[in-house]
Amino acid sequence: MAFNPLNWLLGLFSLDIGIDLGTANTLVNVRGKGIVINEPSWVVIEKKTRIPIKIGLAAKEMIGRTPNNLVAIRPLRDGVISEFEITKAMLEYFIGGAHQQSIVPLPRPRVVVGIPSGATEVEKRAVYDASIAAGARETYLVEEPLAAALGAGLPIREIRGSMIVDIGGGTTELAVFTMDGIIVSRSLRVAGDEMDQDVAQYIRNKYNLFIGERMAEQVKTSIGSAFPLPEEKTMMVRGRNLITGLPQELEISSVEIREALRSALQVIIDTIKEAMDEVPPEILSDLLEEGVCLSGGGSLLLGLADRLADELKVRVWVAEDPMTCVARGAGLVLEDLDGCAQYLVGLERKSPRN
Ligand code: ADP
Ligand code: MG
Repeated sequence: MAFNPLNWLLGLFSLDIGIDLGTANTLVNVRGKGIVINEPSWVVIEKKTRIPIKIGLAAKEMIGRTPNNLVAIRPLRDGVISEFEITKAMLEYFIGGAHQQSIVPLPRPRVVVGIPSGATEVEKRAVYDASIAAGARETYLVEEPLAAALGAGLPIREIRGSMIVDIGGGTTELAVFTMDGIIVSRSLRVAGDEMDQDVAQYIRNKYNLFIGERMAEQVKTSIGSAFPLPEEKTMMVRGRNLITGLPQELEISSVEIREALRSALQVIIDTIKEAMDEVPPEILSDLLEEGVCLSGGGSLLLGLADRLADELKVRVWVAEDPMTCVARGAGLVLEDLDGCAQYLVGLERKSPRN
């Protein structure tokens, strides 16, 4: 990039913001301050006009409790922008929120946004446009698994190989890196949400008990597991009995929930195995040494690392603070935009893998 004194001056006073625009949670990392916003990617809109009424935490609290004229949605549910205007409003709210935290008026911020590696051109353009429309002066896109790997501290610049598996709400992203490049990657639309649905379905089939989305997620995060637990757990679950139509409460065990999660986990495991099949033997031997790193909220599922280690025959470990890896990685990219030029995707500058 040519030196531009105006940009340089703007840079001194403006905010640099790294955003993890997740399907489940959006995190905003302000350079020099750290993560200042961490809220669910939920928006409550008015049904008729589709005007956003509540965003983030306030919107998530309304799930399943909205009056008839409103509806709670996740505009990025499957890892893509299906609702452009609403995503834009959400980004405006989050970028604005970070911006307003400064005392003096600042020029518009520079923004790095993490996007799923499977995103199409149209989807990338939508994130870019939404960010610019939301007030960013410059916007750069970085692939989520790359940001996650940077945030997790993987040695992706080195010649030895490393691997990340990021399990979010809507998507599981995995990538194998060597010398700054991705050599194998996968983006899978099976992750935390699918697990929640499977939990709800299981309880419905077995007990005729209909439970809400939030209850299902609570069951998963409290007693869900991927590997037998040293001490199995139980939990009271509340819902509506589909036969009597009345409220009902019953006890569910972690053994049952593990069964409910079995098929979603199998899909994730098979995808990782398939990707590992494509890894050249030298890099594979690096992975044996280095292990596979997990990030994203899904990596917090009890026993997941043990289960994967057992299936893949490599060491598997969970990154420190796994839910903030992408946001922290986006922050690292911002700190050295020129040095990270090869990580940027998309529209403003093509990634120079010439
Ligand atoms: P995204 O990047 O798609 O926004 P996140 O990385 O924020 O997703 O992860 C959100 C997912 O992680 C949700 O599906 C949530 O239920 C799941 N999650 C959070 N904590 C746990 C936990 N302790 N056990 C299992 N899943 C969890
Ligand atoms: Mg994510």
